[in-house]
Amino acid sequence: MSRYTPAEIEARWQKAWEKDEVFKAVRAADKPKYYVLEMFPYPSGRIHMGHVRNYTMGDVIARYKIATGHNVLHPMGWDAFGMPAENAAMAIGGHPKDWTYGNIDDMRGQMKPLGLSIDWSREFATCDPEYYGQQQALFLDFLHEGLVYRKNAVVNWDPVDMTVLANEQVEAGRGWRSGALVERRELTQWFFKISDHSEELLAALDTLDNWPAKVKLMQANWIGKSRGLQFAFSTIDAPEGHDRIEVYTTRPDTLLGASFVGISPDHPLAKVLERENEDVAAFCAECRKGGTTEEAIETAEKLGFDTGIRVRHPFDTAHELPVYIANFILMDYGTGAIFGCPAHDQRDFEFATKYELPIISTYLPSEDANEVLEEAYVPAKSDKVFYNRGFAGDAWQTGEEAINAAVDFCEQNGVGQGVTKYRLRDWGLSRQRYWGCPIPVVHCDACGVVPEKKENLPIELPYDVDFGTPGNPLDRHPTWRDCACPSCGAPAKRETDTMDTFVDSSWYFARFTAPRAETPTNMEDAKYWMNVDQYIGGIEHAILHLLYSRFFARAMQITGHLPETAIEPFDALFTQGMVTHEIYQTRDAKGRPVYHLPEDVTDGKLADGTEVEIIPSAKMSKSKKNVVDPLHIISNYGADTARWFVLSDSPPERDVEWTASGADAAFKHLTRVWNICDRIGQMDRDAKGQGDEDLLRAMHKTIHDVTMGVESFGFNAAIAKLYAFTAILQKSKAGYAAQREAIMTLAQLMSPMTPHLAEDIWAHQGGTGLIVTAPWPKADEAMLVDDTVTLPIQVNGKRRAEIQVPADMPKEEVEKIALAHEAVVRSLDGAAPKKVIVVPGRIVNVVA
Ligand SMILES: [Zn+2]
Repeated sequence: MSRYTPAEIEARWQKAWEKDEVFKAVRAADKPKYYVLEMFPYPSGRIHMGHVRNYTMGDVIARYKIATGHNVLHPMGWDAFGMPAENAAMAIGGHPKDWTYGNIDDMRGQMKPLGLSIDWSREFATCDPEYYGQQQALFLDFLHEGLVYRKNAVVNWDPVDMTVLANEQVEAGRGWRSGALVERRELTQWFFKISDHSEELLAALDTLDNWPAKVKLMQANWIGKSRGLQFAFSTIDAPEGHDRIEVYTTRPDTLLGASFVGISPDHPLAKVLERENEDVAAFCAECRKGGTTEEAIETAEKLGFDTGIRVRHPFDTAHELPVYIANFILMDYGTGAIFGCPAHDQRDFEFATKYELPIISTYLPSEDANEVLEEAYVPAKSDKVFYNRGFAGDAWQTGEEAINAAVDFCEQNGVGQGVTKYRLRDWGLSRQRYWGCPIPVVHCDACGVVPEKKENLPIELPYDVDFGTPGNPLDRHPTWRDCACPSCGAPAKRETDTMDTFVDSSWYFARFTAPRAETPTNMEDAKYWMNVDQYIGGIEHAILHLLYSRFFARAMQITGHLPETAIEPFDALFTQGMVTHEIYQTRDAKGRPVYHLPEDVTDGKLADGTEVEIIPSAKMSKSKKNVVDPLHIISNYGADTARWFVLSDSPPERDVEWTASGADAAFKHLTRVWNICDRIGQMDRDAKGQGDEDLLRAMHKTIHDVTMGVESFGFNAAIAKLYAFTAILQKSKAGYAAQREAIMTLAQLMSPMTPHLAEDIWAHQGGTGLIVTAPWPKADEAMLVDDTVTLPIQVNGKRRAEIQVPADMPKEEVEKIALAHEAVVRSLDGAAPKKVIVVPGRIVNVVA
């Protein structure tokens, strides 16, 4: 008798797959292709259980597709640029490049024991010059087509780290790393013209049938299409050239409730006033201190400065409104000017209350409602309300109806135009950082901004940089900036901004189709392998990464790097849940929580007997110490156990809670399967037994159910069927041939989840070749039909009738059918039976 030894068999089968290059993706005309991709990892240095779950799901799909005759592409790479490498270099010394490549080596080493079906020959990191050089070539092509441009923009500036921060990097008005108060600054930045594609990116969401509805909704909200009114207030006593203030509003139905006009501190009018008036200048400077995030603006105190300028209301020229410079209005949004309707906007309400401005309702909850409000009245746009100052005849209207009526009325009266706008802004890609892809342009005194020549790509990052002082090390490098102008040849300076790391991940999926090509893609390969048939990743990437990738696919099509069929690059998207774990906590003398690692807790107690408080299932986090290290699990139980566990128990889209007992049970189950294989291996080859057909019927049902489960991402349901079939096989008294067929089929069905154990069983039973390339078993339709049996019914020992029932029908059901039979009813003649005995598959005895 031999034992289940995962450490030994897992290494052996990984070698066998590698030797036969079974996962190497090569174009082949005779097979349908299938491209499965998991979102590639950031090389932090260690894989975690979330990675294991994500990659295992992709692996199940990839292996299933191989077995069903597909030519599968399943690549892996590294999203390797970004701040953490630079922060590590600043915090602990060393170089971002060494840190990153060291981490990649570590993580590859941790990932390979999982036995994933990855074509490692296609591996790349986005910080490889071969990759980012092609990204620079794409940038130049985009520039040529007008898909990328430069403009001044207000940004979040961290005065300590001396860099621009993304909105997500501003926390409560402070830089997420330095903690410094963020300032608004105007800088010249590069932008992708994603806003030109707003309508198309929105409309095409409807074609993505195999994407989660919630992701499509999040994207639609982010693009934010709205119909509004663009119009102008005419000014009184404004400086020359400012006789109008343009406004765009999505709520023109509240125009008759306007009580002030607000402009951004960066509005051209504010800038004129700033030059003339010290108080205005001081106020604007104060406003620029806050961050530019919606959250920062929402939470900051609302401040205004009365400019003394007035505007006329377009529908009542006698009605004059004051013009305030206000800290909550951004120049980037709309026209940088708004009208305030305090009755229907809480922010305007607070502002009006503070500056004692009128609060005028345009709609009310009912016809006789009090017009004096305690707070802004803000119902949903779809609610029907009573318009006391509306534009349409019918006073009861929804917000949507009233908005359309207002636009129509204003257009007919020559006050403005209905305009459709989008919330989506152009994508600013400039970062004042070292560890990113250099933007391949040159600044020449004579020629201005000049694109680098393609033959000079890649523009490589210099290695000899210092992180001793804040700011961008590229700015301080003694020679790196020096170059010849690509246009006139005179001495010039390189751009030192690098690209947002979201650029790196916006086209890597296309690069995987030809990772060594001398151009960004190879059209033949792109045509063959695109689209990604199944993309798998976390919901946290539902908006930006996917939206940017969809834009890039369009831009790459325009510049000839992708076929038109690939502008929606991901045919199907799946967002998996997290791996969670209980948190174990005690308290220190001051009552503060102290966390404990799962391995230090047994039965709710620490080694010294202290009881721990248990906080239920939470996202694994290093700071809470509720983490399990995949490497520990693999060394204790083997990769197949880890894979089996993360797929069982919970549907893939939901969270799964990791428990030590669950992992133990998974390992015991795999051992049980191995022991069944071992037992069958020792059976007499000619042995005949009982129940061959029952076993094979159960097997075909399992083939059917597991196939359905894998096809529909119901991995946990498939695993439940595999458990059930294992129990049947374990108890089976069938002959050798039937049992061998059953164990080999079980191995095939388990192969996507536990590929090493499956190969070993296959080999042990004398299977041909490798199980990974063996054709997926097919369920025999005839065997799926439930078997029926004929049961005689005896009443007081005399045979009275016969019934046909399914062989596996429960006794209670059989009893009901038997007692309802007319022959039985007649023999009982109204009397209740004293006893009914059902012998399954044999007979029903009724004692009257
Ligand atoms: Zn020049």
